[in-house]
Amino acid sequence: MKKIALHWQILIGMAAGILIGLLFTQFTWGSQIITDWIKPFGNIFINSLKLIAVPLILASLIKGVSDLKDISSLSQMGLKTIVTYIFTTLIAVSIGLGVVNLIQPGTSIDDDTRQELLDAYAGDAELKKQDAERQKESGPLQALEDLVPDNIFGAASDNSNMLQVIFFAIFFGIGLILIPDKQSKPVKDFFDGFNEVILKMIDIIMLAAPYGVLALMAALVVEAPSADLFYALLYYTLAVVSGLALMIGVYIMFVWIFTKKSPGFFLNGISPAQLLAISTSSSAATLPLTMERVEEHIGVHPQVASFVLPIGATINMDGTSLYQAVAAVFIAQAFGMDLTLGTQLGIIATATLASIGSAAVPGAGMVMLVIVLGQAGIPEAGLALIFAMDRPLDMLRTSVNVTGDATVSMLIAKSQNQLHDPQVKNWDDDYPKN
Ligand code: ASP
Repeated sequence: MKKIALHWQILIGMAAGILIGLLFTQFTWGSQIITDWIKPFGNIFINSLKLIAVPLILASLIKGVSDLKDISSLSQMGLKTIVTYIFTTLIAVSIGLGVVNLIQPGTSIDDDTRQELLDAYAGDAELKKQDAERQKESGPLQALEDLVPDNIFGAASDNSNMLQVIFFAIFFGIGLILIPDKQSKPVKDFFDGFNEVILKMIDIIMLAAPYGVLALMAALVVEAPSADLFYALLYYTLAVVSGLALMIGVYIMFVWIFTKKSPGFFLNGISPAQLLAISTSSSAATLPLTMERVEEHIGVHPQVASFVLPIGATINMDGTSLYQAVAAVFIAQAFGMDLTLGTQLGIIATATLASIGSAAVPGAGMVMLVIVLGQAGIPEAGLALIFAMDRPLDMLRTSVNVTGDATVSMLIAKSQNQLHDPQVKNWDDDYPKN
């Protein structure tokens, strides 16, 4: 029997999960069964992906950096990567602002609906707000300070500290470049082997992907808020979704113009990662699959992928920044505020920074939204307005985040002459085809 492609397996798993969820909610005891007996398998699946994230970043980044041979090629690729990431994020925020000003979703909210939503979600929003308040207390250089961990095991023990792990891995890789070959060789050999083991573990985890996403989707359907609140937010959702779709169009265009790869080739290669991002709402959890797809099915050299993608999963969140721009203006509209051009330009800057600062985990984008709101003088209580739709939009924006990382890895690979035909990769012995 011909093997079904991974993206189909994941899609079938998602569809089956939604059906099972809908079926079980028909019975009074159904939700409990899903929560007790199905959801745990989804959690196990996500945990195993997260489990692999820190060792993967460490192994692949140390290998990627130390293979660069000298510091100048590292700084050249690093600069290119960061600049391209910021550039795509700026495009995303601008698209978000364009769409939300065009559709004006907030003006359709009447006073009663607004009050109803605020009341219904006051409890949860309060929690989110407190969380976000903590984020806001930091000074201007906090992000820089947070970059450097005081203990690598502390940093590696918490998945929201990915940037610190990246810092350590790059630093370690630089150290490795600078010592004589005789001493660096055993260390490099160790990390090469370590890397291969991690990649094999990912293969094994992915065997469970269709069942994992089935469990996740079933649990999500059971926990979804009621439908009438969804309607009130339909226009807002429409604005975010059309912005995200436009952004996907921008990626396809970039890929086509700069690498001459067709949209079909690109989307086919990356779609399993996009679907996993939808199921997990976490770029970090999706990272192992993003790397595998980009290397094996798109032909990005592992040296580029292992450098560009872990950084991207952590700081490049185009979907998140677009969503933050739409959400901020939507809340302002809902409260009847008129935002000046200056304020909207300010949103471009803060949404870019807030998306960089968002952790690659579910819901992080909404927590960081408070920074954008605060800066623009928009009432933070407005978070309650968008809370109901956060999870579905989180799924979609995460998928865009992952697509953005993959796109940039292709652009960087192309510029380094390291984008190959995935069928006839001619990578050196250091990077065996597996
Ligand atoms: N869930 C998103 C991600 O992991 C972050 C967000 O909440 O926007 O990419």
